[in-house]
Amino acid sequence: MVEPTTQTCPICSVKIITGAAGGDRVIFSAGPQGSRSKLWARVCQFNQKPGCINEQSKSAAISADDYYKPDMPSSDA
Ligand SMILES: [Zn+2]
Repeated sequence: MVEPTTQTCPICSVKIITGAAGGDRVIFSAGPQGSRSKLWARVCQFNQKPGCINEQSKSAAISADDYYKPDMPSSDA
């Protein structure tokens, strides 16, 4: 058994839980948790700086659902 560990990307300031059951999870500053590919689609691809701990997701399959949807209803109202 490997204990889940939390890493914070120094570039994106997003937390990634590695070693968790069901795969790595990403904790966004807002909204539900997501996958590494979601983090890449929404954050890392725009930063493109060395040192991003999510670099590996650059070559991963990004689904359309991973991208930010600007038409999602806001819960801040
Ligand atoms: Zn990153």
